[in-house]
Amino acid sequence: MYNTSENGFFGEYGGKFIPEVLRAAVDELENAFNKYMADPAFLEELRILRRDYIGRETPLLFAEKTTQMLGGGQVYIKLEGLANTGAHKINNAIGQVLLAKKMGKTRIIAETGAGQHGVATAAACARLGMECVVYQGEVDVRRQQPNVAAMELYGAKVVPVKNGSRTLKDAVNEAMRDWAANFETTHYCLGSALGPAPFPDMVRTFQSVIGDEVKQQCAERNIKIDSLVACVGGGSNASGFFAPFFDDTSVKLYGAEAGGTGPEIGNNACRMAGTAARDGILQGYKSRFLLDDDGQAQKTSSISAGLDYLGISPQLAMMGKTGRITFAAITDSEALNAVQHFAKNEGVLMALESAHAAAYALKLAPSVPKDKAIIINMSGRGDKDVFITSPVFRPEEWKDFLRSELFRLENNTNVHEAQ
Ligand SMILES: *Cc1c(COP(=O)(O)O)cnc(C)c1O
Repeated sequence: MYNTSENGFFGEYGGKFIPEVLRAAVDELENAFNKYMADPAFLEELRILRRDYIGRETPLLFAEKTTQMLGGGQVYIKLEGLANTGAHKINNAIGQVLLAKKMGKTRIIAETGAGQHGVATAAACARLGMECVVYQGEVDVRRQQPNVAAMELYGAKVVPVKNGSRTLKDAVNEAMRDWAANFETTHYCLGSALGPAPFPDMVRTFQSVIGDEVKQQCAERNIKIDSLVACVGGGSNASGFFAPFFDDTSVKLYGAEAGGTGPEIGNNACRMAGTAARDGILQGYKSRFLLDDDGQAQKTSSISAGLDYLGISPQLAMMGKTGRITFAAITDSEALNAVQHFAKNEGVLMALESAHAAAYALKLAPSVPKDKAIIINMSGRGDKDVFITSPVFRPEEWKDFLRSELFRLENNTNVHEAQ
């Protein structure tokens, strides 16, 4: 189960397109991954960390009101956002950092965009006693301060990357450079199911705990699955959720991509659902990318930082091409509506990323048979999005709040007490 590529390829996608200086690092990682996935002591340690630190298993919740309202299939939500640190990313971070520790590494590096993977990696390093350096574009460091603050609390060093557009892809390049120079002591903990082999297989394997639990929870409760719906940024939560069902074609698989503000080029991040993406090779792997005619990164846009990425897991790209997975674009406003729907009707505050999957499920559920289930993977919880959702849902109150916070800080007084 843990290695489904053929020499790192999923059909025509995937591979290991790396400069010679990274060859030794990648080969060493591949050998270690294969060795430890067959080591009962490693797997037991991972199981205990998942149980006691991450807080697994995460619940599978029946969305009763939503089911009644839609009048179709039974809607369930896998509450992955209840994992410690608030999202599925910790599953991968704990797996990779534990593996690196077994390999004798003492230092972990990671790339991060919005900061979610940086937070998960920093937390995993704090837990397992590893030095942690996170590369983040300078632009992202400035606009993602809550996550930068969390990374620093966990003891990580956040390095602002000043090259190129000073965002995620520049952070990946910087992490690759560091890894090539320091791999004897350092592991590069990549954040999604992409990059050169063995990362797509490895990240999917560590995330498969999501799908494995869903399979068991459904068997125990006699839930008959019609379809699974996940949001797809790089593709790690979708890969892990879907993996145990890849070969079971009675289960339909749906991927929700960021439809942004609309289908025009630059206004979304659709690698599969739209027509703007093309085959390409970037950052070590072949897949579908949003590139312009000169092979340069296209502008992308989404209200959810986690889905705002120009590439996609090579395995998911292959499965989109063969038709095993159906992809659809969900717009920013559809996602915001889904956040409100599930908060109000189910008491579940979803991350904006996850709300893309939820919005897609709201469209699909009416045509699912009543005796079967459609399951949404809630990849993360929505607390982190308050700086994005509040300006949309209640702009004036939010502006007042920010102004009073700034006033309080600059005047060194406590406005809350004074009022
Ligand atoms: C990062 C993130 C995603 C997107 O990443 P994938 O690799 O596609 O799973 C989705 N949801 C949340 C909550 C995230 O933090």
